[in-house]
Amino acid sequence: MKVTFFSTEVAPLAKTGGLGDVCGALPLALEKQGIEVVIILPHYLCIRVNQASIRQVNEHVTQTRIGKNIKVYLINHAEYFDREGIYGDKKGDYKDNLERFHFFSQAALELLKTISFQADIIHCHDWPTALIPVLLKTKYKTDPFYQNMKSVLTIHNISYQGIFPKNEAAKLDFIEDGLMFNNRINFLHAGIMHSDCVSTVSPQYAKEIQEKEFGCGLEGTLRKRKNPVIGILNGLDETTWNSESDRFIEKTYNKENCTGKQVNKKKLQETAQLPADADIPLFGFIGRLVEQKGLVLLKEALAEILKLDLQLIFLGVGEERFEHFLSDLARQHPQKMATFLDFNETKAHQMYAGCDFLLMPSAYEPCGLNQMISLHYGTIPIVSDRGGLVDTVKPLESAAGNGNGFVMPAYDAKTLIREMERAVEVFKRKDDFRDLIARAFQVDFSWEKSAQDYVRLYRQCLS
Ligand code: ADP
Repeated sequence: MKVTFFSTEVAPLAKTGGLGDVCGALPLALEKQGIEVVIILPHYLCIRVNQASIRQVNEHVTQTRIGKNIKVYLINHAEYFDREGIYGDKKGDYKDNLERFHFFSQAALELLKTISFQADIIHCHDWPTALIPVLLKTKYKTDPFYQNMKSVLTIHNISYQGIFPKNEAAKLDFIEDGLMFNNRINFLHAGIMHSDCVSTVSPQYAKEIQEKEFGCGLEGTLRKRKNPVIGILNGLDETTWNSESDRFIEKTYNKENCTGKQVNKKKLQETAQLPADADIPLFGFIGRLVEQKGLVLLKEALAEILKLDLQLIFLGVGEERFEHFLSDLARQHPQKMATFLDFNETKAHQMYAGCDFLLMPSAYEPCGLNQMISLHYGTIPIVSDRGGLVDTVKPLESAAGNGNGFVMPAYDAKTLIREMERAVEVFKRKDDFRDLIARAFQVDFSWEKSAQDYVRLYRQCLS
């Protein structure tokens, strides 16, 4: 089976978030399942490929590779892509994003002909490539080269839809059913209407985005589809996130021998200038300091939380109002709370290894990576009951012996405080806590499993 990935992010070449991780890792895992994959990506200025690995296909296209064998075709177009940012810069989104990604969609489809890659599946990701399934069903419908191709659209975050004022429609060379939604151009809406299959990054998020609360206006369109939306959990890069071989941490450890975790905890407490006490439970938060990640809830709950016998460390950058709030609070509670307000890969690794618990009370979470990483490090997640968090963290029930984390049964400050109180209680029961860590280590978030699910989806799409 031949599959083409059309994406605006592919790690390690170009990445702003989870989309880049998925499009960098999934093709490699699909290759292991016997799928032939090529990737097409815009050639942004920020992509610095090793010159030795580059091949010039023609004056508009350069080819490089990820992994050993996956070809990545980079579409050059100075006017649109000779910029450092992918979607925008410090001033906000680029004003010509409609033209940029419309251009990319057409050029990427045309490129398949140039390289004679007659794909069975066209796999698109999020709004910037959501016009491709539309083009396939309209402009390219009668071209025999594209006739048998089926399209899959994966939604990584439904709150970004590619919405533009309707007067920009003149810049597109086609207007199709579904492109206009609520009197504005909406790329994702059009893609959902025209794709053969639609998927998203966790089974729970697949359900949620078909409801008003989380669908961001597209719930009705998703529900009306003949083929239901499929949720496939993202995998985890287990070479980067591995407590046995992590080069950023003080002492490596594994599920058989967790003593290294205590060494990492002590080192982390020292770095954060908190009392180095093994008997105080240490809670960490890693992530963007924005509403999505639960900062509004944390703001409401933190005064109460700080009355518990615990320590807290925040690692993150984000909205100024949250950064100020957290640093003020840390200043008022120097024995209990610390903040690292930067993006720091090394510290992230040290926190996954050194904390006892990881807080992730997200308001919504398509899949979420942090909770998967933390389980892999034997660090117990405390999460909201939303999106991928539900699919990855199994709640510890009152009778110990099952579950690998704490899942808030409701989304409010009181519930978060209650779950943290429970966590502190379990931490004190040394045997129960040891068993809980052992269960955390049992998870399997391999990309292999996700790739098998995608192959199943492709087969379904072709039949
Ligand atoms: P997002 O919605 O931001 O994509 P995910 O949970 O999918 O959230 O992934 C977040 C990733 O970014 C994780 O690997 C996490 O460790 C990392 N990360 C987030 N904030 C920071 C930070 N301040 N420093 C280092 N790593 C961070």
